[in-house]
Amino acid sequence: MKLTVAGYWGGYPEKGSATSCYVVESGSETFLLDCGSGALAALPYITELTNINSMVISHRHHDHVADIGSFVYSRLVALALKKTSSQLQLYAPAEEEEFFRSFEKKQTCNIYTYEQPDTVQIGDTEITFLPTGHPVPCYAMRLIENNTKIVYTADAVFDEGLIPFCKDADLLIAECSFYGDQDAKEYGHMNSREAAEIAERAGVKELWLTHLPHFGEHTDLLKEAAEIFSGTIQLAHRELSWENY
Ligand SMILES: [Zn+2]
Ligand SMILES: [Zn+2]
Repeated sequence: MKLTVAGYWGGYPEKGSATSCYVVESGSETFLLDCGSGALAALPYITELTNINSMVISHRHHDHVADIGSFVYSRLVALALKKTSSQLQLYAPAEEEEFFRSFEKKQTCNIYTYEQPDTVQIGDTEITFLPTGHPVPCYAMRLIENNTKIVYTADAVFDEGLIPFCKDADLLIAECSFYGDQDAKEYGHMNSREAAEIAERAGVKELWLTHLPHFGEHTDLLKEAAEIFSGTIQLAHRELSWENY
């Protein structure tokens, strides 16, 4: 399994970048976790759009879904030009079925819904879900392939329930929308210390801070997290990559 960051901003993208979007390569499949604003411009740095045949969406906030519609158009064109014969398979929270049905397009994009305790299998990866505390239905995702485990918190307030879900993960991709002295919970998010506390208490090997804020110095997020989590910590950036082979 290989995971690469395409977009990592919270809310909206800065110049030449994107909000939440991660590329996973597993077996013969390539798929996305979220497809935020700017994703389609960032993805070609990592892979051809025609290599991506599935996406798993955490929730319907714009910084996680903004480029889905454009992706569907790209697939429509690619199918017409016979650059691929694969339709897009989109997995989304069951509570938001009506919203995600708007992306359905005959012979181009198929919608599937998930909820806890469903399992979605893509390539060699099995994905399970945990509802997070957020203003709309939102799910953290745990990806398991053989003995490898990656957890993506999506958008979440700090919650003790995340700790067993993240237990012993090889990589934790945690949202970090605020600095350590700021109250993130009020906005449905986590700060650097909360992300690090989950990493430390779950005993994960490596922590990536993502869904980054548009203020302050991001290196301070690293410093604050390092006071709590003793493992490897990285700030998400485009093309930051993790792989187990
Ligand atoms: Zn978000
Ligand atoms: Zn959100």
